Amino acid sequence: MKIFACSKCQNTVFFENVQCLHCQSPLGYHPQRGMVALPEPGLHRCLNYSQHNVCNWLTSRPDRLCRACGLNRTVPQDAARWWRLEVAKKRLVYGLLQLGLPLQGLQFDFLMPGPQPVLTGYANGLITINATEADDPAREQMRVDMNEPYRTLVGHLRHESGHHYWQVLVKDLDGFRRLFGDERQDYQASLDRHYAQGPPCDWLERGHISAYASMHPSEDWAETWAHYLHLRDTLETAREFGMGRPGLDSFPDLIQDWNRLTFALNSINRSMGISDLYPFVLGPKVVEKLAWIDSLLKP
Ligand SMILES: [Zn+2]
Ligand SMILES: [Zn+2]
Ligand SMILES: [Zn+2]
Repeated sequence: MKIFACSKCQNTVFFENVQCLHCQSPLGYHPQRGMVALPEPGLHRCLNYSQHNVCNWLTSRPDRLCRACGLNRTVPQDAARWWRLEVAKKRLVYGLLQLGLPLQGLQFDFLMPGPQPVLTGYANGLITINATEADDPAREQMRVDMNEPYRTLVGHLRHESGHHYWQVLVKDLDGFRRLFGDERQDYQASLDRHYAQGPPCDWLERGHISAYASMHPSEDWAETWAHYLHLRDTLETAREFGMGRPGLDSFPDLIQDWNRLTFALNSINRSMGISDLYPFVLGPKVVEKLAWIDSLLKP
């Protein structure tokens, strides 16, 4: 992500800020204008900003939802939980817009489980997120129970968006199947096998980015897609801060910078006694899959 500055005083601010801590101006984000100090002629707070305080985006017409909130179908009651979901969704939407991807057809349900459980997943343009994933202790417990190295809201959203953009971008099915496998294999049977027997112990050698990716070719794609979005957003952030080589966007350059950066960031985290920022290994097959995704986005 780019570094943003307050439009009034040029103090650097976070993408999530609602106020500049230097000049105290209220702030809002507009996809074309960046972080804008308010009031600003021609720009208005998103309805979810003015009425619920769970958004910091702006719109060009009054009393509307912003581009990102307009994608919501169901939102949680609890404002703190809703805000955390919006923060993650906004980062996803920012990344999708940076890659020039269309948002049409994409919708979000943030659901709290009731008598019925809620499964995070994707169907026909609709991304469903179990809203308890916005509670850190619950999500961390789940991460440990599922033996995952990484579990975040933005990770879920990037993964589920992969199922959507598979439908949008993948026209060369032979090319897809050569790398990821045949997506027509029985999904339910693969899912049952995955949860009954666990992943194959050699999933890494088989060229998957994660154990879950070994479950089915569609999940391999969605997992790899999520990592492509992790790479692009995190690398953009790093380059903004002078780490990496801005402007070098050929895939070999991206992957070289990414490997150097993640090794550095993991080392820094270890210096502070916290877990690796990027607890994954990119084997040659995974790099090939990422390169294929990159080629779909740069025709
Ligand atoms: Zn300011
Ligand atoms: Zn909004
Ligand atoms: Zn999936």
